[in-house]
Amino acid sequence: MDFELTPEQKAVKEMTRRFAEEEIVPLARENDRKCRFPHEIIKKMAPMGLVGGPIPEKYGGAGLDFISHAIVTEEIGRACSSVRTTLSVQVSLVELCILNWGTEEQKRKYLPALCKGELIGCFALTEPGAGSDAANQSTRAISRGDKWALNGTKTWISNAGVADIAILIARTDADTKEKHEGLTAFIIECKGKKGYSTRDIENKLGLRSSNTAEIFLEDCELPRNAVLGEVGQGFKVAMGGLDNGRFSVAAGCVGISQACIDASVKYAKERIQFDRPIGSFQLIQDMIARMVVDTEAARLLVYKAADVKNKGERSTHETSIAKYFASEAALRAANMAVQIHGGYGYSDEFPVERYLRDARVATIYEGTSEIQKLIIGRDVLGLRAFA
Ligand SMILES: Cc1cc2nc3c(=O)[nH]c(=O)nc-3n(C[C@H](O)[C@H](O)[C@H](O)COP(=O)(O)OP(=O)(O)OC[C@H]3O[C@@H](n4cnc5c(N)ncnc54)[C@H](O)[C@@H]3O)c2cc1C
Repeated sequence: MDFELTPEQKAVKEMTRRFAEEEIVPLARENDRKCRFPHEIIKKMAPMGLVGGPIPEKYGGAGLDFISHAIVTEEIGRACSSVRTTLSVQVSLVELCILNWGTEEQKRKYLPALCKGELIGCFALTEPGAGSDAANQSTRAISRGDKWALNGTKTWISNAGVADIAILIARTDADTKEKHEGLTAFIIECKGKKGYSTRDIENKLGLRSSNTAEIFLEDCELPRNAVLGEVGQGFKVAMGGLDNGRFSVAAGCVGISQACIDASVKYAKERIQFDRPIGSFQLIQDMIARMVVDTEAARLLVYKAADVKNKGERSTHETSIAKYFASEAALRAANMAVQIHGGYGYSDEFPVERYLRDARVATIYEGTSEIQKLIIGRDVLGLRAFA
């Protein structure tokens, strides 16, 4: 066990930190205020290999190991969670799903363009009646001649309003014993697609410059080769995707926590009350110490999950632990960061109110904290709380 980053990982951290400080941080407040999708940032990140981190070079990626992928995601998350969410969906949910489940033809067709940021992807699992109960899919895909015809509604889908391609889960067999059976993943080339439309979800609490939308499918016809993985294996594709997506959320949350520490330490040294910097008060130091311990622990849990992923082993358990802890820790850190900033933390003059609004979703999306705990509980007890 070696707790030191390799020289390559340190270089990735430095490069991403510099990019984030120069290109993302200066725009974060304005993009948040205007709910502006960060297209131009994604375009600038791509030539640096940041939009295809863990994808092999032969498919246009940077071929990074998962610790480096976590480092990139943390640094982007430290700067702006909206950009990080966009990137997490693009890389972890879309690119890695295609890498892990796609045919050679699908990999060659989509991965290079996704890694260049020329295509934006989304991952559509959630439905109005299928949130935590993700297997309860109502969207139907019916075989019709040499095509599939899809009908249904997806909701709360990140990037959906701006996406060029969607990985979408639908029910292809309604007569299975278990509801997670009979599902299939599809790749939809959605721009201008007949029977496919979206509606943006406005006025979100946080992640305001990330796009979130509903998807409506009305007799949306797809060719046979739009299937990703095997027919009937859609739940496996989705859960494998979530293992990567949750990992990325966890790493992004370490970034939020680190941003909270950095902002709070600076402010606590500068702000004078009772003729002393507030950082000299023990109750302020208590909050900062708790943030530091939480952040360090969260980062180590993310690296542990990354280590399992680097070995090519299944990481569901380690990823759920990391996602649960890191997202709850980010929320605690952001709450304390606002407290340390006092009234000034309550307006967007300082970034901590955005950190708090952005952290809030992390214990909800890609599986709520309750669901993560039920996965961890199932693993240690051998008893399922849900099917
Ligand atoms: C900003 C944003 C972006 C998102 N992006 C995507 C995306 O890109 N793709 C996608 O597919 N989805 C996405 N989602 C959806 C997200 O994954 C779901 O919101 C999440 O899984 C929870 O589902 P739900 O909202 O239906 O809540 P519900 O499942 O209705 O849960 C409501 C509450 O009940 C609790 N609960 C549910 N079941 C249990 C149980 N068995 N035991 C204990 N408690 C339980 C939950 O923990 C929660 O507290 C996004 C959501 C948001 C807010």
